[in-house]
Amino acid sequence: MGNHPDTMLKKEELVDALLDWYDHNARTLPWRISPEDKIGGISPDPYHVWLSEIMLQQTTVVTVIPYFEKFMEQWPTIEKLAKTELDDVLTTWAGLGYYARARNLHKCAQIICQDFNGIFPDTYEGLLKLPGIGTYTAAAIAAIVYDNAETVIDGNVERVISRAFNITTPLPDSRPEIREYAEQLTPNHRPGDYAQALMDLGATICTPKTLKCDLCPWQSDCISHEMGTATKLPARTSKKARPTRRGYAFWAEYDGQVWLRRRPEKGLLGGMMEVPSDEWVPSNSWDNFPNPRIPIIANWEILPGMVRHTFTHFHLELKIVRLDLEEMINLQEGQWCPVDESDKYALPTVMKKIFLHVGEPLLDL
Ligand code: SF4
Repeated sequence: MGNHPDTMLKKEELVDALLDWYDHNARTLPWRISPEDKIGGISPDPYHVWLSEIMLQQTTVVTVIPYFEKFMEQWPTIEKLAKTELDDVLTTWAGLGYYARARNLHKCAQIICQDFNGIFPDTYEGLLKLPGIGTYTAAAIAAIVYDNAETVIDGNVERVISRAFNITTPLPDSRPEIREYAEQLTPNHRPGDYAQALMDLGATICTPKTLKCDLCPWQSDCISHEMGTATKLPARTSKKARPTRRGYAFWAEYDGQVWLRRRPEKGLLGGMMEVPSDEWVPSNSWDNFPNPRIPIIANWEILPGMVRHTFTHFHLELKIVRLDLEEMINLQEGQWCPVDESDKYALPTVMKKIFLHVGEPLLDL
């Protein structure tokens, strides 16, 4: 690695070109203050930036916008979010995945209100101490909200830097080199806008597949563009294929109510509600897959089709086993919940798919 004198030489040129591009092309986002409004004296709201950055971890802007707006409607201030029940936060978060983030979000709001008088710390180090805020999020908030010269590197930035400097080492090994270039480029002047500009460039121009180099403010200095290697970057070491797990979910219904229970706090989908299921077992096929281990002795019926869902580390296939009860039974765990009020429960996406599947079993999800 070492120093990159060329980067330093071109630093001002690259930064100015990018900021100028951003002034005319910044994406309009509900949590963002436009470059124009910033010049007019409006500052980004730390609550908005923090919430959006937590939501954006592992998720796209398009997915996040409606969730952000729902949160703003329900909890327009961090104080209101801190005072609400965790279960309400999980319910509104449902569908965004990675539910530990929602729990940390709630915890963080409470700490900010109780220990910091409702005001976010204004340094990278201070932000990093809060639950749910890692190095990326701390740098993003410090730069965007407080204009601290922090280097913000997300997937978009990794791609742009890899291409601009033709870094051919595959990810993740190339990360230190990417960081070194990115740090050298980070300006003291408008670092918040610069960070957002780089993300926007990656999201709209220097995209993974259909690159728009002709519209790029860095085109004349971009090494991979000159060498014709851009579409191959960033290089990646090949990923292991995701394994599949299979299992049965038990849909017991009585008088328009379905049996749901809460998952343990720790682990996958922690604290969310679920249609009870037996173990999700790694398996190559449904042929010779064991029969369901039914929780109540009764006439269960396996519905046709199945529900499919992909988690970070595995694919899941669930067959749904249904029981229609004529009499209410006492449950050892969980509760009876009205089927048509599923929106009121903190149900993750995979469980919502089960509701859909039961409503329409021939629909293979
Ligand atoms: S010129 Fe093309 S490859 Fe290079 S940074 Fe711009 S969009 Fe990306």
